[in-house]
Amino acid sequence: MHMPDIHAARRARLQEQTAALGADAALITSLVNVRYLTGLASSNAALLLPAAGADGARAGADGDAVLATDSRYAPAAERDCPDLELVIDRFAEPALAALAAARGLAVLGFEEHEMTVERHQALAGRSLTLVPLGRLVEGLRMVKDAGEIALLARACQITSESFEAAVGCIRPGVTERELATALEREMIDRGAEGLAFETIVASGPNGDTPHHAPAGRSFEPGDLITIDCGARYAGYHADMTRTVAIGEPAAWQREIYDLVAAAQRAGLAAVIVGAEVAAVDAASRDLISAAGHGAHFGHGVGHGVGLEIHEAPMIGYGRTGRLAAGVPVTVEPGIYLPGAGGVRIEDTLVVRAGTGAIPGELLTTVTRELLVL
Ligand code: ZN
Ligand code: ZN
Repeated sequence: MHMPDIHAARRARLQEQTAALGADAALITSLVNVRYLTGLASSNAALLLPAAGADGARAGADGDAVLATDSRYAPAAERDCPDLELVIDRFAEPALAALAAARGLAVLGFEEHEMTVERHQALAGRSLTLVPLGRLVEGLRMVKDAGEIALLARACQITSESFEAAVGCIRPGVTERELATALEREMIDRGAEGLAFETIVASGPNGDTPHHAPAGRSFEPGDLITIDCGARYAGYHADMTRTVAIGEPAAWQREIYDLVAAAQRAGLAAVIVGAEVAAVDAASRDLISAAGHGAHFGHGVGHGVGLEIHEAPMIGYGRTGRLAAGVPVTVEPGIYLPGAGGVRIEDTLVVRAGTGAIPGELLTTVTRELLVL
């Protein structure tokens, strides 16, 4: 499908859902959701989308959707969103609220998870009835189409190849920051438009902190080094973690590595069509807990990835929902021993109705065997 048609099809689904809520229109203010529905990537935009069949929706075309952005993004909007009515206004959200009121779209659905109290008060002063939309667009975004998966796969390929290139520079004396910088340069050189998130390099005792920010610590013989990295490509976010060793690992290091690796294999095996997300979490977590390390694994087993690095579905204890085919997720169990170090292994894969040890489609490809450097 042609890109504008893909975006129109996404909007049509939201228009149906907005009508089902009883709203006259949806005011989309999450920038990533605006991008998903229009193709416009910007730091200032909003979309007014009349509900299917709403009185204020002009007959016939999809021309009833109105995209507001400021002059910096006007050329991109004109080029990439030819089927949308454009409003160029620095105050995109109030401009669309005024337009909604003027067109008789009195009941306006809004994205309450990203709306501030201050902005809500400003909208409510316009004689509009505001109703929460919930995370409707985030729900639509979960299952990716073939084009999206191709972009995510490219981001993951860049990430895997960059890791394999940068790992060669690991030796005693190199700092966490130097490795992070080398890895980031590899990703950019291989075509990444940017980083999916701040690279994590956690060496030796710093490995006890899952999201340690790389700093001036130099690698030493006997370190485990946890490296969590991802490239961003055409808006899509890769996510991969590997833990490597400098020199032969001690028995306790090999033990927690093997345990995390087994937990990750169990998690990957549990990523099947129809799986409850809590069951995927349990598949990994139960192995770690049974070995006495439950208290050393505090985060969820995984999350969705796409236009955001963390998006629905969240895979964790107490989360609900089922995995559908075409949903990219991560599986990333870890063990973090206070003051000593840690291990995490993470891959990005797409839920598929496949067979074998990993029924899903693995997008990150670096070996999960312990690399001893
Ligand atoms: Zn990660
Ligand atoms: Zn992750």
